[in-house]
Order: sequence, then C-alpha cells, then structure tokens
Amino acid sequence: MIKKIRSILADPNVDYQSKSFVLLSSIALIGLFVAMVSGIMLGQAFSANLSVFVEFVLFSGMFIWATCFNGIKKAMVIIAFLLVFVFLPAAFFTSGGAAGGTPVWFAFTTLYIVMTLSGKPKGFFLAVNLIVVCACWWIGYTRPETVIEFTRKEAYYDSFFTLLIVGIVMTLLVSYQVNLFRRENERVNSQKKEIEELNQSQKKFFSSISHEIRTPINAILGLNEVILRQEDASEEIIGDAQNIQGAGRMLLALINDLLDFSKLEAGRMDIVPSDYKVSETVSDIAGMMLQRAGEKGLAFEVDLDSGMPSVLYGDEVRIKQIIINLLNNAVKYTESGSVRLSVSSSGITDGHTDLLIKVSDTGIGIKEDAIPVLFEMFSRVDQEKNKKIEGTGLGLSIVKLLVDMMEGEVSVESTYGQGSTFTVRLPQKVSDPATIGKINVFDRAKQKNIYRDLFTAPEAEILIVDDTKMNLTVEKKLLKNTKIRIDTATSGAQALERTLEKRYDVILMDHLMPEMDGIECLRRIRSQMDGKCRSVPVVILTANAISENQELYASAGFDGYLLKPVTGLALEETLMNHIPKEKIDATVEPTGGRS
Ligand code: ADP
Repeated sequence: MIKKIRSILADPNVDYQSKSFVLLSSIALIGLFVAMVSGIMLGQAFSANLSVFVEFVLFSGMFIWATCFNGIKKAMVIIAFLLVFVFLPAAFFTSGGAAGGTPVWFAFTTLYIVMTLSGKPKGFFLAVNLIVVCACWWIGYTRPETVIEFTRKEAYYDSFFTLLIVGIVMTLLVSYQVNLFRRENERVNSQKKEIEELNQSQKKFFSSISHEIRTPINAILGLNEVILRQEDASEEIIGDAQNIQGAGRMLLALINDLLDFSKLEAGRMDIVPSDYKVSETVSDIAGMMLQRAGEKGLAFEVDLDSGMPSVLYGDEVRIKQIIINLLNNAVKYTESGSVRLSVSSSGITDGHTDLLIKVSDTGIGIKEDAIPVLFEMFSRVDQEKNKKIEGTGLGLSIVKLLVDMMEGEVSVESTYGQGSTFTVRLPQKVSDPATIGKINVFDRAKQKNIYRDLFTAPEAEILIVDDTKMNLTVEKKLLKNTKIRIDTATSGAQALERTLEKRYDVILMDHLMPEMDGIECLRRIRSQMDGKCRSVPVVILTANAISENQELYASAGFDGYLLKPVTGLALEETLMNHIPKEKIDATVEPTGGRS
C-alpha cells in the first residue's frame, strides 16, 4: 500500500488534486488511528471511541478502493460528502461539541475540500461545510442536551491530540507543497531552456536555409541577367532567359514569404522606421509591376496623390512588401483588364498622417463568404477556380501581420467575377510636409527596367570576397561592362593577404564564410598592421536574409548593404557611390546608393 501511495505521489501524470487527496487521506488515516488508540488508552467515552472507530474503518476502506481501483475522483466527492454531512456533525455531538477536537477537524475539512475538489463541487461543499458548522454550533449552544459533553480532562486531551495531528498534517502538507512547487519550477525552467534552444536552432535553420537557397538563386538570376544583356542572342534564347528570370523570382518570393512568415509568427520581425520619399517608393514598385502586368497583357495604372507630403517616416521596406504582395495578387488573379494602385494620404494632424493605399483589379473577385478567412494563414479560397494559380496562402497573412505591427488596418471589397479592391491604412509620421507635386512615376521606372551600364571605371580596382566561386563568377560577369578591375578572394584569410598588397577602391564582402566570417574579416581589415585598405569602403554582399536587419551590418562598420541575389543594377549603383569620382566615367547621374 505504501508503495502504491508513493508511486501515485511521484507520478507526473497524476493531477495535483488526486495527489493532494492521497496525501491528505493517508495522513488523516494515521491521525484517526492515533486518535482511536489514544481514546481507548485514555478511557474516553464509548460513544466517542465508537465514532472514531467507524470513521477509521470506513475511511480506510474507501481509501484502499480509491487508490487500488482508480476511484480517486469519485472517492474525493464521497469523502467530502461523508465528512461534511456525517462524520463531523457526529463527532461534534458525540465528542464534547465546541470543547473537544472537532473544531480543528472542521478546519481540516475545509482544507481538504480546497485541495482536492475543483469547480462546482468545490464551491458546493465549501458552502455546505459552512452551513453545517453554523448549524452544529447553534444547536450545540441552544440545546446543550444534544451534545455528549467531555470531562475537563477529556476535552483537554482530545483537543491537544487533534491539534497535534492536524499540526503534523499541515507541516507535512506545506513541505510537500513547497517541494512540489520547487520541482514544478525546475520543470518549467528546463522547458523554457528547451524552448529557447529550439527557437535558436529554428533561427539557425532558417538562416542557413535562406543562405543555401539564395546562393544558387544568385547564380541562376545573375547569369541569366548576363544572357538577357547579350544583344546578339536570338529571340528564343531571350524568351527562355525571361522565363528563367520569372521562375527564379517566383522561387525567391516564395522563400522570402516563408522566412518572413516564420519571423512574424515568432515575433522576431521588427519595424525599422526611417525617412523615405513616397514618390521613389511608388516609382520602384511601379517599375517592377509595370513589367509583370505587361507580361500578362494587363494595363497597370498608378495614381499618386500630388498633394500628399513628399517625405514620410516609416518602414519603407515593409510598406513596399505590403503593396507588392497586394499587387502581385491583383496581377495573379486577373486574366484581363487592369490593375490599379492608388496612393494618397489623409490630412496632417500633429505631424502625423494616414498613408492610404488602394490596390484594385478587374479580376476573378472573391466570394463574400471567403472574405472573413482571407487573411488567415495558408488560406486559399475558391480553390476550384484558382487551381491553376500557384500560391501558398501566405501573402495576405503576411500583409495582415505587417499592417498590424504598424498599427494600421487592411480591408477588402470585392464583387465576385468583377474584381477586388484592397485598402490599407498606415499611420505614418510626416518628415517633410512639402507636397509631392505632379510626377510621372513611370519615368524613373522605365529608366530602371532597361539595363544599361551606369558607368565605366577602368581605373577602379575592387576586391570581391566570397567562399562560393560561382558567386564570384556571377558578380564579375555582371560588372564586366563597367570595366572595373576585379580581384577575388575565396576566404577571409585570402582577403587579408590581398589587402596587404593593394589598396582597393571598394571591397564587396560576403557574410557567412567558414573559418572567418565577413564581420570578423572587416574588423581585421580595419585594424590590419601595414594594411592598405584600413579606410576603404567595405560593402556587405550577403545571402543571409534572416539578419537582413541592415542595422546589424551598419553597426559592424560596413559602408553598404547588398542582398543576394544581386542584380547588375544594384551592384553598379552601390559601387558608383563608393568609387572615387575621378575614376568614374558616368553615363547617368548617381541615384543615391539604392540597392
Ligand atoms: P496565395 O495567393 O499565395 O494563394 P494569399 O494569402 O496572397 O495567398 O491569398 C489568399 C487567397 O485570397 C488566394 O488564394 C486567393 O484565393 C484570394 N485572393 C487574394 N487576392 C486576390 C485578388 N486580388 N483577387 C481574387 N482573389 C484573391
């Protein structure tokens, strides 16, 4: 029996109430046994001895049944019932009323109810116990003949032993509780540690998967761009290359969505606000979408409110992501007609305004009953009609999570079969209230879409550090037209050898490399004895999107940031801003280092 009791108390699968029941009952049984023996030895009244004896026999029978035959839950309630309605009133009237040890047992019963029962039974028995106590005391007081009084000696002995027993019970109980609490604490702490470790390894996994996938995409898109630039390539080759570009970008968008989603879900995505020119943001998006909509034969219109503030303060990268996600969907779910982006703002109040973004299309539309679940993760509605359209159901949930993070709102209106309009409202700080004025957002966009080398710099010398040889090939080919002289290094150590020999105009540095990573290599270049590149601009060129947090690289001392897969244009724009002006033979004006 003792073995059984121990195993129940040590079993982590047994709930707290059942454990309390076993503990309290076993202690109470010992107490009853002591009370019975001491009552007989002290020559207590026969009725009192009989009452304790009956209690002991019933109670132990119940206890054995409960613990050995899985009847703990039922026994808890039965014992509470017997205690409150039978044993305690019986003990009160047969064992000296308020003068004996029964008052302490009433208190013990209250403790028993609190510790073993829960929910409605707990409330019921607590209330009934109180009523029974009141009734016993009242009857005992007003009708003393109903109580078998103790002699002075009996009263003292009974109350003394009861106090002793209940005192021991309390001490054991509190010690058990403290022990339980300590063990529970240890368990929670070790679980917390496990979760943290899991989180950490998940982060590592996403970081490495991002790196692993981006590296080959960098090669595919980079080399494909080189093919697209070839003027003597046949139309068929250009057509194939364009398809490769489309598929590569789709793959990239997918991995970006997955990474973002995992970060948003884990609460690891931060909103990083800075000043941004609304017209440039919209132009960038317009350029990208004009091409995509055009490829599908859709008209693409942009309506930028000329009266809105020109510079706002917010997270431009994430705002672009929201708009692009909505526009991508609009293009994806529209077979003919047009896609329209309109960007405006509400009035300025206390230096703040609401950026209002509307994306409308003349596409398939969304059924009314699907609208409430549209922003839920992995939800793809109207599967029958959309079966041929690829997607993960992540885009809109990312939009919603990002909008929520910026304390904005997103809503949708749609007529099934006719089209949809997504509206986003984002509160932003106004950095420059001067209005945008009339501009053509497609001017800049057209400029960006047609590749032509921005400059040539045959005198300039740069070093590219990357452990993947394919990346070095891609970057060298992408920069071929600029005539820049390019040295390469496949490790941090090799880079440090080069920087001892030559002063470069710019260094492009990969982040994740074995043995010495880009951050460490930069630190060593900056403090290298006799190093010739201690003050040379170093730009990080990374595939590590998980730490895309540009601040990390800025605080490490990098002068610029480029994310793989990198385009020729992004490479040229960045280099143009760092190579000394006298070495540059510019064919167009520098754009301010956007990458
Ligand atoms: P995905 O496009 O990858 O399936 P999203 O989360 O971006 O996932 O969109 C969820 C669903 O909402 C889509 O599967 C589609 O059914 C519907 N949807 C989103 N945008 C539009 C739109 N502009 N027109 C029609 N249906 C849309």
